[in-house]
Amino acid sequence: MKGIVTPHQILTSVFGYPAFRHNQEAIIEQLLQGKDAVVLMPTGGGKSLCYQVPALCLPGVTIVVSPLIALMKDQVDALVLSGVKAAFLNSTQSSGEQSLILQQLRRNELKLLYVAPERLVGGEIPFLHFLREIPLSLFAIDEAHCISQWGHDFRPEYRVLSQLKEVFPNIPVIALTATADSLTKDDIIRQLQITNYHVFENSFNRPNISYYIKPKKGYYDALLEYLEAHQEDSGIIYCLSRNATEKLAGDLLADGYSAAAYHAGLEKNLRDERQDLFLRDDIKIMVATIAFGMGINKSNVRFVVHADLPKNIEGYYQETGRAGRDGLPSEAILFFGAGDVMKLRGFAQVENNPEQTTILLKKLDQMVRLCETKGCRRKYLLNYFGEEAPGYCGSCDTCLHKPELQDCTVIAQKILSAVYRIKQGFGARYMIDILKGSNSEKIREEHKSLSVYGIGKDRPKEEWMHYTKELLQYHYLKQSANEFPVLQLTEKSQNVLFKGEKVFLTAPVQITIAKEPVIYQKHAYEKPLFEELKKLRNRIAHEENVPAYLIFSDSSLLDLATYLPVAQDDLPNISGFGAYKIEKYGRPFLELIQDYCQENQLGSKMNIKHPKKAKRASATRAGASDTKKVSYNMYRAGNTIAEIAESRQLAHTTIETHLSYFVSTGEIGIHEFVPADKQELIERAIAKYGRLGMKQLKDNLPEEISYGEIRMVAALAGS
Ligand code: ADP
Ligand code: ZN
Repeated sequence: MKGIVTPHQILTSVFGYPAFRHNQEAIIEQLLQGKDAVVLMPTGGGKSLCYQVPALCLPGVTIVVSPLIALMKDQVDALVLSGVKAAFLNSTQSSGEQSLILQQLRRNELKLLYVAPERLVGGEIPFLHFLREIPLSLFAIDEAHCISQWGHDFRPEYRVLSQLKEVFPNIPVIALTATADSLTKDDIIRQLQITNYHVFENSFNRPNISYYIKPKKGYYDALLEYLEAHQEDSGIIYCLSRNATEKLAGDLLADGYSAAAYHAGLEKNLRDERQDLFLRDDIKIMVATIAFGMGINKSNVRFVVHADLPKNIEGYYQETGRAGRDGLPSEAILFFGAGDVMKLRGFAQVENNPEQTTILLKKLDQMVRLCETKGCRRKYLLNYFGEEAPGYCGSCDTCLHKPELQDCTVIAQKILSAVYRIKQGFGARYMIDILKGSNSEKIREEHKSLSVYGIGKDRPKEEWMHYTKELLQYHYLKQSANEFPVLQLTEKSQNVLFKGEKVFLTAPVQITIAKEPVIYQKHAYEKPLFEELKKLRNRIAHEENVPAYLIFSDSSLLDLATYLPVAQDDLPNISGFGAYKIEKYGRPFLELIQDYCQENQLGSKMNIKHPKKAKRASATRAGASDTKKVSYNMYRAGNTIAEIAESRQLAHTTIETHLSYFVSTGEIGIHEFVPADKQELIERAIAKYGRLGMKQLKDNLPEEISYGEIRMVAALAGS
């Protein structure tokens, strides 16, 4: 059944966002029509809203199945902070806590319930059977690839979900995942037995993440330089080994950074504690093995650094994807060195399994190629995942620092001649030693008298290496495939050596990373105010004992520091400021901005902000006052009248009056408050006595009909 309230109203009033992203709106529409949806969306794409919004449009409860307990709590905390009735059910809770939630479910007091898959199977009565007694709106299956053995994270408990459609043929199902491959996708559809569905696929591109790959040599200084410029930011640094995380975290601490190590070898308590501190921004930098990150929903991770080479592109993309979930510009930086390749080649050897070894080596090789490509990194990544992409993205190191081709004919001639003179029998290092005129013992006596010996003294070794690689890249040279690769000439090099053909190569460049965090370049914003706003938010978060980004994301605060809202009415136009949060937290933020503007003699810039698109129902626009709207939004978020009265410290009848206004405009269906049979009785009484004499109406109606119910029907009659 489709509620009267529109998804867009929920989006703006509860979540405080101006517009849907990607295909969120189409997905929600599909579900509201009672049909099923399979959603493939990258991390940070906004999967949760695809079921959270319909959950609030529909009358019953939405069951969300999620395998990640940490994530569950986070999501529920976030919803509760927006005034939505949500809870979770998993094995970490006592049986008392669990039965309390079951009671709330029976009374239809929850809009969303997050359940761990094992909870679906276990228990005295199977949970699915219990759910038959509850008014359900929707099933959302998060991390839906877990149902498939083809996926990378198969969970046998998920198999119970195959029964969903048998037990609840009429309840729509939405399956969500960030794993794209088509085998898994088809298997999800088959396992869930959905037939009336649509698959919603999204690009895997993460436009707000910039990709940088830098040389690993001397990387610690480069890292410090980067961190120095990003002191306020939170990030993850991935290392290959446990020891490496401990060492790097120690070094960073010693250099004055707020860092901690995280790996599977630490005690669970310590791990949980550090994760928590990181979520709360009390630790800024987590130096971790890949054990860290699964189920981390922290939206303001500004950078992900790989201090060591990842084993494959899948891992790299998943890890870098943890940056910038809030949509703000973020950075992925990888320090690439040849030593890591050797090490990982060793790890890829699976004993007695040559096929597996071949697969792992191939994946490693593709990872290395990403690091060595001269083309756009983003294009390489998207192509890897089977997506088309333009050759220039403008936000990766190769696009940003595309060096120009220069006439390098003389340099090329020197290198190619050397290769020719040493009879194509030696590797790059040896050839460069010849060019440099090295006195090393390794150099054979007969080579010291060659005409090319010492003709390259004018350039450092690194430059010769760079040009040699360039010649390899452009096929003027090739490398033999044996254990000790030697340089060999090609047809192209013959033309250079013997026909005087010109050669154009790129000069070596020092890749530098933008020093100012990119987020600050887009907006002209008040930096000191931004910092103050963050402090205020963090203080509130500490008081409420939740991660700061759940109160307001950095992007919301940036909006404040940019547009300087100074009136209560401005706040709904700030991203992330839903009605409930405005009511609860709006004031101190406004006061801070007001003070700041006064001190600095600044005016509000709300007029230049594109207002949140106000596609609201006409009645709301026509002037429901703010206080009515707050009650309305809280009601829509699943609160009862009594709860709204309690939380707003207003009389029960006041809330009823607020809501009856929306009954009169048609935004709330009368049936939501008054059963049809009672409605009929009340209407008859109104026809007889008129709608203004409340007491008279009450006296002439059956005892069990309340004043509230009469008021609602009267409101409708009067509209
Ligand atoms: P996913 O589950 O796909 O990784 P989330 O659902 O956690 O992503 O969403 C990532 C972030 O984007 C969250 O902070 C969420 O509030 C925000 N978000 C989602 N949809 C929108 C939207 N339409 N407008 C603004 N922010 C959004
Ligand atoms: Zn690019």
